[in-house]
Amino acid sequence: MRAFVAIGSNIGDRLQNIAKAVKYLGLEPGITIKKVSSLLETDPVGGPPQGKFINGVIKIETALSARELLKRLQKIESSLGRARTVKDGPRTLDLDILLYGKSIINEPDLTIPHPRMLEREFVMKPLLEIEPNIKNKWSSQKKSRKPVRRLIQRARNTNA
Ligand code: ADP
Ligand code: MG
Repeated sequence: MRAFVAIGSNIGDRLQNIAKAVKYLGLEPGITIKKVSSLLETDPVGGPPQGKFINGVIKIETALSARELLKRLQKIESSLGRARTVKDGPRTLDLDILLYGKSIINEPDLTIPHPRMLEREFVMKPLLEIEPNIKNKWSSQKKSRKPVRRLIQRARNTNA
């Protein structure tokens, strides 16, 4: 299955955290890295005052289920010392599943497509960089099933 993972870090050596995460991800059985976007530096959204993030998006091919993929991502977050304390607080590493094929998953601890991706420029910009023709095929509203590039024209810049 083709999947897209958002990556972010705002504590410590952020570039190194991201580099390690990409490396560990590629070492996981059942996960192959296909593309890594350019990275961008962004202001935090919500939560307590905290440092800027470095963000990017990774395209993978995976044999794992979405839930198993989430577990592996959380394992990698922990191995980089991520502690879950404050909501929307600073983190050494955040790995979120944006898309998993065309799946729509609405479970308490797993929502795919990622619910806030369309309004986050720091997600959409790198996603469109590596997948320029991605279509919003997952939308339940027929009229929204058009190229994502058009959908985000009105998206707010959440860096503001
Ligand atoms: P954030 O929402 O800022 O990424 P966390 O990384 O602490 O916050 O994640 C909180 C919870 O979000 C996780 O425990 C996970 O179960 C849940 N979650 C729901 N959907 C997703 C998804 N698509 N990707 C990653 N985590 C998800
Ligand atoms: Mg997360």
